[in-house]
Amino acid sequence: MNQECITGLCQTWKNICEQYTAKEHQAAFKFIEEHVEYLVTVFYQQMVKEPESAEFFKDDIIQKRLIDTLRKWLLETFQVAMNTHYEQSVKRQQKVGVVHARVGIPSWLIMRGVREIERNVFEILEQKSEQQNLHMCSYIVQIMGFSTEIMCRSYEANTEKSQEIKHNYRLFSAMQDVAVHKDKQRGSLLDWENELMFKIFSGSLGFYHPLFSKSEFGLWFIHKASYAFSGSEQVQLIIDRIYQVDELTQQAMQMMDRDQLQQVIQNIRELNREIQHLVDQLFQVAEYIESGNDSLTQLLNRRYLNTIVSREISFARQNHTPLSLLAFDADYFKSINDKFGHAAGDMALKFIAEALQRFSQGSDYAFRIGGEEFLLLLVDTEIDRAMSIAENVRRYIEQGLIRTAQGQQFNFTVSVGCVLYDGHPDYQRFLDAADHALYAAKNNGRNCIYVAKTDPQATCSAS
Ligand code: GH3
Ligand code: MG
Ligand code: MG
Repeated sequence: MNQECITGLCQTWKNICEQYTAKEHQAAFKFIEEHVEYLVTVFYQQMVKEPESAEFFKDDIIQKRLIDTLRKWLLETFQVAMNTHYEQSVKRQQKVGVVHARVGIPSWLIMRGVREIERNVFEILEQKSEQQNLHMCSYIVQIMGFSTEIMCRSYEANTEKSQEIKHNYRLFSAMQDVAVHKDKQRGSLLDWENELMFKIFSGSLGFYHPLFSKSEFGLWFIHKASYAFSGSEQVQLIIDRIYQVDELTQQAMQMMDRDQLQQVIQNIRELNREIQHLVDQLFQVAEYIESGNDSLTQLLNRRYLNTIVSREISFARQNHTPLSLLAFDADYFKSINDKFGHAAGDMALKFIAEALQRFSQGSDYAFRIGGEEFLLLLVDTEIDRAMSIAENVRRYIEQGLIRTAQGQQFNFTVSVGCVLYDGHPDYQRFLDAADHALYAAKNNGRNCIYVAKTDPQATCSAS
């Protein structure tokens, strides 16, 4: 969200506050402070009743953490009128929206909880039944509503972004298969057409030819490519044309008039050229999407990191399977470039990629997320396997020898941060934990592994 928008939201917040007296601001804050435990409790009691919330709140630790967050949110939000930290507060609401989007909590669920808080505020105040309470209550409702509105604004923006990346990822993963089919399918489209031409020009009227939608190309497109490319405007156009070709083919098979037949065949050929053109356009997009791969190492790049990590987190949560993450960073890499040149540095980066692939499985994900920074997401993996992979990679690199084109030789090392997924639905925390562990490995002297203990009650330890 840009600064202009933030300034506008700050102004609105200020305007709302100015409709009420300083005494009311204070009374509202005092009220919230007094009842905060109760309000937090009713919020979560309501959440737990909603079946959709189960996956977000089932864990005790998460519940405790979220309760703390909500308590803090309520207190801070009602302090704003007094401390006038409007901007800080707008940004805080936006951040909450971003986290909700990342975790995938539906925004209506949050609104449902907020409505429960508001209902209880009224209930408590009704018992006091003083006239000035009504005005203060309207202030509370205004502020709750407005801060939730800011959350939803950034929530919407962030879910849209992640939807787009998810779509691209689906395209990317299906594309590995589709790319193989590119030439084959182009050939099968032409084969179908050539066979049709052959039947017609060999003079037979009333011939039989399989429908285009049932040809190898038609089946491939309708079942597979349309999924891989779904969301692209060409997909429906191609499918429409495939069925138009079917109709024309059926007409052609029953025609007894050669001139009419020529015309229909001409139309089929034109439609097929159009289909070919549209399919080429789709492949151009696919080639662009393939930039999800890092061209130097052929590992995944940062583009799909969030999508993949968040998908694997959901899987781990739903299936109660372990998930580990290793963060690697080459030690003193700058000096390799300085001493041996950039090309030698690139060879070293490829060597890291090779090591990651050598010791991981096909089901794991290896990323190059920055210059000399790598991640290995290890699915269905307990910390012991993760540590053993980390050690294998570390040792392999330490013992490897890079030979430059100029005949020089050097070796280098990597530091590794290792973390086991702790069940928190926000994938960013998982990524941050790996990053912190890596930082600790660097601080411990490099060329070593640091394992973060993810139990929030425990402290980190080095291995
Ligand atoms: P540290 O042990 O603290 O990680 O030290 P470092 O020198 O590895 O860390 P720093 O982040 O200061 O330097 C990273 C260097 O990696 C800077 C840059 O020259 C190099 N680098 C980044 N991307 C590439 C690349 O694609 N190719 C090559 N050859 N070098 C790269
Ligand atoms: Mg670095
Ligand atoms: Mg480095």
